[in-house]
Amino acid sequence: MPGAAARDAEKGLTHDATTACRLCGQPARLLFERTVLGRYPAGYYQCEACGLTQTATPTWLEEAYADALHPTDTGLLERNRLACRVAATFLHLCGVGDRPCLDYAAGYGVFVRLMRDAGFRFHWMDPYATNLFARGFEWRDDLGPPVACTAF
Ligand SMILES: [Zn+2]
Repeated sequence: MPGAAARDAEKGLTHDATTACRLCGQPARLLFERTVLGRYPAGYYQCEACGLTQTATPTWLEEAYADALHPTDTGLLERNRLACRVAATFLHLCGVGDRPCLDYAAGYGVFVRLMRDAGFRFHWMDPYATNLFARGFEWRDDLGPPVACTAF
């Protein structure tokens, strides 16, 4: 039975040893390669300067996010309730107050709705999903920079 490296070689996974970090621009070294969505070879890199782990430029995002919720995901609401309790406590202690916050990759907007109900001025942004629960609270550039940004 072949190991992970041999299976990756069979799938043609070969990436450059380094790439530029998308966050800070410094060199990022190849950590490992895997197949994404069962058919797209992906190299995973870690930045030597900031530590961010990232894939090589993803070409599969549209397909990966064609549906914001997988049909077998039954924990969406409970995860959002838990994330809301943790984030609300943390942001309250940080003194965020009523300054604008952003939930990036906000999906259907459940977390934004919960955070707004908890008294925070959260806004929705997600290029791959439809805003169902936070309509009217889409992020706008005229809000200025967000005081906090979440991405669960
Ligand atoms: Zn970096």
